[in-house]
Amino acid sequence: MEPLAEKSIHCPFCDARLTLLIDESVGAQRYTEDCHVCCQPMDVIITEDMDGELSVTVEQE
Ligand SMILES: [Zn+2]
Repeated sequence: MEPLAEKSIHCPFCDARLTLLIDESVGAQRYTEDCHVCCQPMDVIITEDMDGELSVTVEQE
C-alpha cells in the first residue's frame, strides 16, 4: 500500500491550488506547512472519519 496520499487543497491566503502529500499511516494529525506559492504558514488539519477516510482542511494560522 502506498503510504503517502495526495490531497488537493486551496491555500487559505492566496487560493492557490496545492497538492499535499499526507502520510496516511499516521492518521489524524495537525501540522503547519508553508504555502508553496505565497509562503504563508497554513494550519493543515487531517481528520479521520468513521470509514477510515482521511479528510484535509487548511486554515489560516
Ligand atoms: Zn498561498
